[in-house]
Amino acid sequence: MRCPFCGDEENRVIDTRLARDGEEIRRRRECEECERRFTTRERIEQAIPKIIKRDERREEYVRDKLARSIERACVKRPISADAVERLIDRIERRLQEGGDKEVSSRYIGERVMDELTAIDALAAVRFASVFRSFDSTEDYAAFFAALSAEEESEPSAREEDEGQSD
Ligand SMILES: [Zn+2]
Repeated sequence: MRCPFCGDEENRVIDTRLARDGEEIRRRRECEECERRFTTRERIEQAIPKIIKRDERREEYVRDKLARSIERACVKRPISADAVERLIDRIERRLQEGGDKEVSSRYIGERVMDELTAIDALAAVRFASVFRSFDSTEDYAAFFAALSAEEESEPSAREEDEGQSD
């Protein structure tokens, strides 16, 4: 994205907003060379970064694909289709506002987990099992460790120690 005043390619995004009923994204940018400001417009499809798969292949972001993996995690859970749509909207907005050209599938998976954990822990756990197929098992294990730490309230180890003192 070249500066229209001096032609420099380095600039930073200072504001991002949706326009034309969400079909267009407008970014206010400031040139790092001449410090003048200008606005760029992008079609929404272009505004969502490409996805970097675990094997380093790149693919276009497809909303339906993300929706299907989330819906699978939400089967028979008290989560409305509308809530899933809004969840995806929030993730897309975040991706658009980030202004990156590419993001990892892992990054998106983590955002979904954050969102789902806040709505329904079981759905989040189910999503994690799908997520594992394109992410490292270590992150998966850490996620479960954090989740079960919240659920466990009884310190059973101390009771064992007391029993052994006899
Ligand atoms: Zn400039």
